[in-house]
Amino acid sequence: MITEIESLLRPNVVRMKPYSSARDEFSGMALVYLDANENPYPVDYSRYPDPAHTALRGKIAGLKGLHPSQIFTGNGSDEAIDLLIRLFCEPGIDNLIALSPSYGMYGVAADVNNVECRRVMLRASDFDFTADSLIEASDSLTKLIFLCSPNNPTGNLLSRAEIVALLDRFAGIVVVDEAYLDFAASPSFAGLIYKYPRLVVMQTLSKAWGAAGIRLGMAFAHPDVIAAMQKIKYSYNVNSPTLELALARLDREDEMKRQVEEILAERRRLADRLERLPVVVKVYPSDANFLLVKVADANAVYDGLLRKGVVVRNRHGLDLCDNCLRITVGVPKENDLLLEALNRITGL
Ligand code: PMP
Repeated sequence: MITEIESLLRPNVVRMKPYSSARDEFSGMALVYLDANENPYPVDYSRYPDPAHTALRGKIAGLKGLHPSQIFTGNGSDEAIDLLIRLFCEPGIDNLIALSPSYGMYGVAADVNNVECRRVMLRASDFDFTADSLIEASDSLTKLIFLCSPNNPTGNLLSRAEIVALLDRFAGIVVVDEAYLDFAASPSFAGLIYKYPRLVVMQTLSKAWGAAGIRLGMAFAHPDVIAAMQKIKYSYNVNSPTLELALARLDREDEMKRQVEEILAERRRLADRLERLPVVVKVYPSDANFLLVKVADANAVYDGLLRKGVVVRNRHGLDLCDNCLRITVGVPKENDLLLEALNRITGL
């Protein structure tokens, strides 16, 4: 019998036999490993990593209250985005939908895969969306919808009720990218994967966990979706140092939570101080670790900041982001440097 997920997958993915690495075939304990043509001398990292990431997925399962079969780990969330498109969208035929403005990688990964990315504008008044607007933009060839909550670059959480309405009504895969959720006062959608087999939730170690450099992203979904992702991923998509560092970092949840509290306190202080600067037109509310800030002239302020050694992200030119800069919340000293620099370019 064809499962619901199987009926959504590209037929070539259902049919194909995955590459089987030496370490896929044998993952127990042996006296000697003569199966993978590695250098046998005891140099660091001479052995291939575990392709199934068993220890790491087990650890994440404990932290998130999920089963390892519901967890994918990869080279950043960016890998998960690309794999999902390759699993569900037939190039040149199927399409996906992303909100706008949102994280740019959904559109880039769609382009790489020759898949049409339909953009639906967020509401100008509050950067939120309705399930209706996405259903209206979809057709029978729409296989994926990417939602980002809290959204990058606008910073706001999307309406939970509208996401649930979309899950109830849309027949394809709904991806909720929660890269910034640790900074928001809202529960994860991960718990809903038990109820919605077509829901994929993405998280990452790159933001609150402070490990962008190791490249470790996670996706939570029905075991059939995860099995399909495992089937097409590179065997050794996460390297041994990253597996070790990720395990060690996930042991330090208390430290992560303390740092998040400090970032949230700084977010409030920074927003308050920015609002009082003449060059600032508006500071948008944020549920993330950055602020979207409208200024008089984004290009001029961006260049002025650069000359003072302060790099922010110029979002001018994106939908609904006229003259907006996206500013990451730093440590107090960094934020003070930014405020001082902005203060000095007030005369624009
Ligand atoms: N999702 C969103 C919304 C992001 O803003 C980013 C990084 N800017 C990512 C995913 C990428 O995360 P990773 O580092 O895990 O690839």
